[in-house]
Amino acid sequence: MEAIAEQLFFTLFNTKVPRVLLKADNPDFTIVIYNEAYEKVTYLDGRDITGISLWEAFDPANAGGDGAKLLMDALVTASKNNKPVHMPSFKYDIPSGHPGINVQSWWQLEIIPVSGPGRAASYLLTTINNVTDQIENSTAILDSKLREETLNEQLEAINKELGNKNEVLQATNDELNTLNEKLTRSENDFRMLNAELEERVIARTQSLKESYAQQQALTEELVTSTEEITASNEELLRINEELRISKQQKEEFLFIASHELRTPLTTIKAYNQLMQLTKDEIKRDRLVIKTAESVERLEKLINNLLDLSKISESKMLYEKEPFDFKNLVTECVENANDRYPTHEIVLEQVAEMTYTGDRFRLEQVIQNLLSNAVKYSPEANKVLVNSWVEQYSLIVSVRDFGIGIAASDKDKLFERYFRVDHPTLRIEGLGLGLFISSEILKEHNGICWIESEIGKGSVFYFRLPVGN
Ligand code: ADP
Repeated sequence: MEAIAEQLFFTLFNTKVPRVLLKADNPDFTIVIYNEAYEKVTYLDGRDITGISLWEAFDPANAGGDGAKLLMDALVTASKNNKPVHMPSFKYDIPSGHPGINVQSWWQLEIIPVSGPGRAASYLLTTINNVTDQIENSTAILDSKLREETLNEQLEAINKELGNKNEVLQATNDELNTLNEKLTRSENDFRMLNAELEERVIARTQSLKESYAQQQALTEELVTSTEEITASNEELLRINEELRISKQQKEEFLFIASHELRTPLTTIKAYNQLMQLTKDEIKRDRLVIKTAESVERLEKLINNLLDLSKISESKMLYEKEPFDFKNLVTECVENANDRYPTHEIVLEQVAEMTYTGDRFRLEQVIQNLLSNAVKYSPEANKVLVNSWVEQYSLIVSVRDFGIGIAASDKDKLFERYFRVDHPTLRIEGLGLGLFISSEILKEHNGICWIESEIGKGSVFYFRLPVGN
């Protein structure tokens, strides 16, 4: 029997299945014996737990949850009922072999009571199965399942939401389609409007261009008219000014003329009275000569006035015929020497030729130049006369050493009534002599000009064309 028992024991414990034999001495449940497989799964690592209480070997405080209570209940039930108990998985953490570190462990137990004499169990043969890996795997699976479920739920929710969104999107899409149609219609309308607008803009631009061109033409016309008006205005102003000057000149002239006429008349009157009173023959003869001078002066003035009116009315008559020009000049010089005893009139050279023209009027010109030369050189005593022929022209010059003429006055000398104002000199004259002379010369296709220097004297020239 003992051999059988030994055989049985060997069979039960010499196995890779972890087994322990506990005494059924509730509450200690002393460890009687355990096999190598048990040592391994409980990480005894050489620790000998034989003969100590199960709770001493494995601290119930580490059991985790109600693992210690479940084990205790199962051990008590198996020993009391003397019936095997199969314990489903429970958690009981055990020391890892490293001090202070426990290993999370899940176990399944098969407790088989071993009866002694009597009915109660004496020992509990406990087969242990460490199901930590399975549990952890199944927990992981469970977790992943749970996660999967959660994910599925989330996915479903998302799907639902997506479905909702899809509906919304669909609605939006429909709306967008409607809008698109409307937009297409509007775009067509817009295109038509745009085309219409463009046409109107082109037409408007064209009409604006035309108006602008018209306006431009009008402006140009206006500018031209304004210019014309300005020019006419200026012309009117100029004429007005000329009229004013001429009126002023006329008034001045009338004043001067009446004065100039009255002077010789008064002299003649006075000499005449003296002549009547005196019995002295010599004195009377002198008075006759003086009266004759004033008469001559008066006659000259009247002749000038008559010539002026003839010229103004273009009624001056010219009798042109060939005459000896040398003779004319010589005569003029001789007469001047007689008339102006204060000056010596020197004929330096004279052109010998026959000239065809109005001898009387040309004599008038030379006499006027000689009389001016004497009149405007009161401080001098000489006048030089020259005449020569040069390049189909007959030229005459009269040089004096008198007051001279300012450059600014030169051009005006031949205008009617023009007189240079000499405040310090009282020189008689009407401002007609040179004007009449230049008119006579013009009639002979001649011209006149002056060279002069203030204070030094003047040279008056005239040129008459002669046959070529
Ligand atoms: P007037 O009768 O005043 O001398 P003229 O027509 O002969 O008129 O001369 C016009 C003006 O020209 C004169 O008033 C004078 O100022 C100037 N003039 C003419 N000849 C001379 C001259 N030889 N020297 C200086 N001034 C002169």
